[in-house]
Amino acid sequence: MRRKLAAGNWKMNGTTDSLGVVAELADTHPDPSVDVLICPPATLLARAAGHGAIAVGGQDCHAATSGAHTGDISADMLKDAGATYVITGHSERRTDHGETDAEIAAKSQAAYEAGLIAVICIGETLDEREGGTTLTVIDTQLAGSIPETATAANTVIAYEPVWAIGTGKVPTTGQIAEVHAHIRSRLSERFVDGDGMRILYGGSVKASNAAEIFAVPEVDGALVGGASLKAADFSPIISALENA
Ligand code: PEP
Repeated sequence: MRRKLAAGNWKMNGTTDSLGVVAELADTHPDPSVDVLICPPATLLARAAGHGAIAVGGQDCHAATSGAHTGDISADMLKDAGATYVITGHSERRTDHGETDAEIAAKSQAAYEAGLIAVICIGETLDEREGGTTLTVIDTQLAGSIPETATAANTVIAYEPVWAIGTGKVPTTGQIAEVHAHIRSRLSERFVDGDGMRILYGGSVKASNAAEIFAVPEVDGALVGGASLKAADFSPIISALENA
C-alpha cells in the first residue's frame, strides 16, 4: 500500500512571515492520514522544520557532498537543516540551469546517500505533447534521471507536464491516467519494488480540481506550486487527498 503524499514547492517565494503557513498547516492537520511535505526556499528550511507532522524538503541539491561550489547546497546540508526530502529535476531547474538527466540522477543518488527521499520530476513540454512524443520523452527521463539504487522508500516520481506548471492548464484525467499507467509499468519493469514507488501529479493542482485528479488510478498525491503558498489553499488539497 503506497502512502499518499501532498507536497508543496514554494520555489523562490517566502520570507520569515511565511513560516506561519507551516505552523497553520501543522495545527489544521495534526495527524494526517497522508504524508505532507513543504519545500520552502533554503533560507527558511531549518526554521520550517519541526512543525508537527509537516515534513520539509529542499528544492534542489548538489551532487557532491561538499566543496568549491559557490551558492550550492549539498544533500547532507539539507538533511542537517531538518529536511527529509529533496526535489530533483524540477522542470524549472532543467530549463533555467540546463540540468540533464545524468545530473539529476547524480543529485538523486546524493540525496539517497544523505538519507533523503528524492522527488524526481519528469514531464513533457507543450511541443512534445503536441508532437505526440510524450511517452517517449517520459521513457528517456525515467531511464536517465532515476538511479539504479532507487527504491520505493527513497524515491517519489512527480509527473509534471511542463505546460501545466503555473499556467492554470491541466491535462484531462485521461491524459494523466495514460502517463501515470505508463510510468507505473516502467517502474515495475525496472525495480523490484517499483509497484511501491509513489507517483505524484503536478501542474496547476488546486482545491477545485484536486479531488478529480486524486481519483485517477496510479495518482498517489500531488506536487503543488502556487496553491501551496497559503494554508487556506493547500489545506483543502491535503483534505482531498485524505478523502481520495
Ligand atoms: C510545481 O512547481 O511543481 C508546480 C506544479 O507548480 P503549480 O502547482 O503552480 O503549477
